[in-house]
Amino acid sequence: APNAKLAVIGHPIKHSASPQMHQAALDAAGIDIQYIRVEVEPHQVEACFAEMERLGFIGCNVTVPHKLEAMDLCHELTEDAKALGATNTILFKDGKRIGHNSDGPGLAQAIYEDFGKSLTELRVLILGAGGGAGRAIATQCAREGSPAIYLSNRTVEKLEPIAESLTNEYGAKLVCTLSNATEDLTTAAARVDLIINSTSLGLHFEDPLPLPESALASSQMVYDAIYNPPLTPLLAKAQELGASTSNGLSMLLHQGAISFAFWLGQSPDLAAMRRGLNY
Ligand code: NDP
Repeated sequence: APNAKLAVIGHPIKHSASPQMHQAALDAAGIDIQYIRVEVEPHQVEACFAEMERLGFIGCNVTVPHKLEAMDLCHELTEDAKALGATNTILFKDGKRIGHNSDGPGLAQAIYEDFGKSLTELRVLILGAGGGAGRAIATQCAREGSPAIYLSNRTVEKLEPIAESLTNEYGAKLVCTLSNATEDLTTAAARVDLIINSTSLGLHFEDPLPLPESALASSQMVYDAIYNPPLTPLLAKAQELGASTSNGLSMLLHQGAISFAFWLGQSPDLAAMRRGLNY
């Protein structure tokens, strides 16, 4: 496309909802630019950036599995990218690549919008804290000063270095790493206000819950980073028990809005972005 100047790169990329969301905001602002999706194999990120720069692209979003590789290819990083240790947004400017991360701040805004509470006041249990999204979410909770952060992950070995960084680099007050034992997860769930699923469990209808059903209670807030399907088994079960729930569309929306403003220097029309997502 001749006026393609923004993109999302990933592998696989065909299911990304970013193009429809950003295109709706670009159109609403009367900006004559196309936002496209580009399939990029691992280790082809540098070649892809070079080609985009040659074509005069403004920037791009970066998704799985390229968020770390992209960071290494940047000349400058914003505070958010440095803090979160990954980039999901790149700005091409004056021959430089500037890396940013809107996932963490986007999650914080999503939680505030969906539950009316700031991470600053919420004790949180993060399921899948060792994954890319989970790590960004855990770090954001620490940056916002969450009073307690419980971390769980299938591969428990990944948790210790993350917990250390939350405590040492971000001054998190109380960080606990959990085994996958039912009683540990149940005890932790009873001590928090908010449970966040950032595992990939729930992408498929037949997936098991990411935590034991007995850990769920009506007093909790339950956020699932997954947005497709919009109602995961976890959210369905939590709703049945009377908990407050929300899915990953709000995180997608707000990280997208932050990226848009980073590239274009103006805030997008959030209502247009929502319409682009049918949300
Ligand atoms: P990663 O591949 O980096 O991490 C996947 C996580 O899921 C890991 O913690 C992994 O544990 C865990 N996991 C995978 N399979 C299983 C299983 N069978 N049982 C238990 N745990 C499992 O992916 P991302 O972090 O990028 O994405 C995770 C989820 O977050 C996805 O569903 C994605 O859709 C969503 N997401 C939503 C965003 C939004 O804007 N709403 C943004 C980014 C992601 P282990 O370490 O043991 O492998």
